Amino acid sequence: MDENTKNGLLLEIQDLTIQYVTDSGTVHAVENLNLRLGRGETLGFVGETGAGKTTTALGIMRLIPSPPGVIQSGKIIFEGQNLLDKSEPEMRGIRGGKIAMIFQDPMTSLNPVMTVDKQIAEMIKLHKNVNEAESLKLAGDMLELVGIQRERMHDYPHQFSGGMKQRVVIAIALACDPGLLIADEPTTALDVTIQAQVLELMKKLKQQFDASMILITHDLGIVADICDKVAIMYAGRVVEYADKCALYSNPVHPYTIGLFNSVPDLDEDKEVLNTIPGLMPDPMDLPSGCTFHPRCTYAVDRCSQTKPEMIHVGDGHLAACPVLAKARG
Ligand code: SF4
Repeated sequence: MDENTKNGLLLEIQDLTIQYVTDSGTVHAVENLNLRLGRGETLGFVGETGAGKTTTALGIMRLIPSPPGVIQSGKIIFEGQNLLDKSEPEMRGIRGGKIAMIFQDPMTSLNPVMTVDKQIAEMIKLHKNVNEAESLKLAGDMLELVGIQRERMHDYPHQFSGGMKQRVVIAIALACDPGLLIADEPTTALDVTIQAQVLELMKKLKQQFDASMILITHDLGIVADICDKVAIMYAGRVVEYADKCALYSNPVHPYTIGLFNSVPDLDEDKEVLNTIPGLMPDPMDLPSGCTFHPRCTYAVDRCSQTKPEMIHVGDGHLAACPVLAKARG
């Protein structure tokens, strides 16, 4: 066991760069990404579509479609071992067994022609040394744990509502007691009332299973409710990283400030919502220097020339903006 594992660090991503190399150019999906996740922690990954959140998650799972995807450089150290050094058979043991992923649309994870108990049991048999009968018994237990009656274990996915399907997906994900759960916008496809129930369930089970979680979302309300730490991503980079409380009380990066300003205030009677001016840059043609500079109201001349490094602005709080780090740190 190395020093980091002993200290309670579960996952450390070092200088991860992932690209999609296509005939029309190279998509810079993730660039020099650094992150750390402690045991039992929940990290919120926040950013607009195309920021690199899902690509990072797929990179951790080693599920980047290749070609065109290429992990160009970096390390993904999980429980003290670099996942990028693992063979595909080794990764098959890690996926589902030690790291599980929940996707936005439950139907992409569920097999429509297999009853839900068999789908959960299949995952259990893959990672645990149990026979068919034991795996089906455990599958029933898992369904009950996520709030689905055991009598429904022989039903097919189409016989469940969207929220119930996502509960089945959660049951599959947790069936083998993984150390890390990655949830990619797990409630976006659900009705608002069901979203709250599913999030509450995930929060409860994460504690019960003592798992760490990466929650990918664009919803700062969900982050406030569930996460301990937050990484704000923009154009393939983490631009701010902090404890939830530090981030919400003192956002430093102009993009983070823009995200908070874009959240509608129910007490204010406004006809037009605040937005961040401009659009996310084309990942095949990223702006020079700070990639946020064309949209940034705080930009100075040097912003278009120098790529900002992450700067410490407080205890465990980093932001990639030298201009505001000094003023707000
Ligand atoms: Fe804005 Fe410059 Fe800071 Fe980038 S480095 S966020 S352009 S002020």
